[in-house]
Amino acid sequence: MANDRHYKLAGVMGWPVAHSRSPVIHNHWIAEHGLRGAYVLLPVQPDNLEQALRALPVLGFAGCNLTIPHKVEALKLVDRVEPIAARIGAINTIVVEADGSLTGRNTDGFGYIHSLMQEQPDWRPASGPAVVIGAGGAARAVLAGLIDQGVPEIRLSNRSAAKAQDMAAEFGGPVRAIPWDERHAALEGAALLVNTTNQGMHGEQELDLRLDLLPVDALVSDIIYVPMETPLLASARRLGNPTINGLGMLLHQARPAFEAWFGVLPEVGAALRAKVEATLAI
Ligand code: NAP
Repeated sequence: MANDRHYKLAGVMGWPVAHSRSPVIHNHWIAEHGLRGAYVLLPVQPDNLEQALRALPVLGFAGCNLTIPHKVEALKLVDRVEPIAARIGAINTIVVEADGSLTGRNTDGFGYIHSLMQEQPDWRPASGPAVVIGAGGAARAVLAGLIDQGVPEIRLSNRSAAKAQDMAAEFGGPVRAIPWDERHAALEGAALLVNTTNQGMHGEQELDLRLDLLPVDALVSDIIYVPMETPLLASARRLGNPTINGLGMLLHQARPAFEAWFGVLPEVGAALRAKVEATLAI
């Protein structure tokens, strides 16, 4: 006989949240693994965030994802924060522990690195310098992921230069801030380029970057997934560079969260990609 304890609930908390692709991803894996459970949208206004988080254990949730605008605020409200999430300064995942306490995690860096590993298996962290354009929330996760993989040099450039300087000082190690007008020259000798700005996203201008200065074997990566091929990726493809879009990061960041809630580390397969791609048509 079915037992309520075997029925697992999870969801994504945001405001607004209706656009989220996370239900498609997690419900695909629930079905794929024959699990009993559901992943639902949790529209929660900022003023109600603390109450909503504290209700998770009461309502029998295994945890939830967090999206705009809750990722930074929720970090201050949970009972413990994993070290990488503390470095990133935001959480995208909450796990309800057996005693009802809440652990905050950030899986975006994992998502970025594992999308590279799946789609460009020849990429090696030690193959050369990385150039990261942008110094917003997503850049923090990408930086943490690249540093933890041992990338020897990371050139960070942001339109608002002070943000890149502060972030380079905070992360330290291989990260070096590059003035915005020197971003083109910073591409020389690089092995990886990552766009973490919103430039090139549907409805935005394209990223202004002289790609011809980048070695032709350097991997060009854009974390944007609408559109799937940004103008940056289209230019890189025409120049002969290998490219990778942001869909893989979106799919892979969901894997450790699913594992924490449902006890299975799922894979990113062709059927899941096709299902999510179908929701991205513009
Ligand atoms: P954010 O914190 O608001 O940061 C936005 C970044 O874009 C900042 O570095 C900002 O520079 C830069 N920017 C904005 N307008 C610009 C312009 N006109 N010229 C140059 N730079 C400009 O946003 P975020 O959360 O980091 O997200 C950034 C992008 O990543 C979005 O497109 C988002 O969809 C995507 N993303 C993808 C995933 C995934 O799973 N694939 C995950 C998270 C985010 P300033 O500091 O100068 O304003």
